[in-house]
Amino acid sequence: AARYQYCGRFAPTPSGPLHFGSLVAALASYLDAKAQQGRWLVRIEDIDTPRAVAGADQQILEQLDQHGLHWDGEVLYQSQRHDRYHSALEQLTQQQLTYRCICTRREIKARGPFYTGICRAHDYTQEQAPRAAIRFKNDSPQLSFHDRIAGSVTIEPDFGREDFVLFRRDGLFTYQLAVVVDDIEQEVTDIVRGADLLTASSWQLALWNTLAGRQPVFAHVPVAVDSKGRKLSKQNHAPALQSNQCLAQLQQAAEFLGLGRLEATTKERFIEQAIRAWQTKYLP
Ligand code: GLU
Repeated sequence: AARYQYCGRFAPTPSGPLHFGSLVAALASYLDAKAQQGRWLVRIEDIDTPRAVAGADQQILEQLDQHGLHWDGEVLYQSQRHDRYHSALEQLTQQQLTYRCICTRREIKARGPFYTGICRAHDYTQEQAPRAAIRFKNDSPQLSFHDRIAGSVTIEPDFGREDFVLFRRDGLFTYQLAVVVDDIEQEVTDIVRGADLLTASSWQLALWNTLAGRQPVFAHVPVAVDSKGRKLSKQNHAPALQSNQCLAQLQQAAEFLGLGRLEATTKERFIEQAIRAWQTKYLP
């Protein structure tokens, strides 16, 4: 039966135009939402201001539109939501679930692959450590969870247990905090995104448990890689989507998602077929 309250989302970082890898994530989350008569939101994750590129948000929205992926409601911008992240951080601090960390990136790296919680015992006050990161006391980590596509997921415990950062030393709220605050407030029920975010999902579930008392359903799709096996990303110079190749690009993305070759003469027809193919492949 259809889950009428379904709400999904696509949450791109505006560090450049969409490439094939991001189209795969967009299409998967869109099809999953529409196959379940759900809403599909778009959120611009420009919380990491140094990485945001001027105009990339507009470019991304235009590309989605050109590919026939039309979103519901207003586009949310993380850069305009500092108040919300601030209050969530306050709430966690009042619950004594945070601590200040003065370790530099270099010090952490020198000690090993994950953060061992060294600053926790110091319990620095704001006066003692004015320029500090704020970490989450990850005391009830969620080291395994069910994923609709990947099945049962188990996270490497040392990473899953890490006291991850909520607020950076350079004064920025982190992606981990922002994404959970937003998904909760937007009443997102289902998160469909790339499998490169599996560890992040484990951390985020720990935050969901604390902030919301409910959890989203996850579906992680395979990540598109280049010929050298690296994730397609802006840092790796993945080529931008071409505005005159929308249908072909959609067809490739659907094939990548395992939906087979969908023949269609228009984007609209393609989308209808892809929703049906998604239902057959991914819904019970
Ligand atoms: N903004 C993240 C990215 O572009 C995606 C976050 C998410 O889907 O939760 O990688």
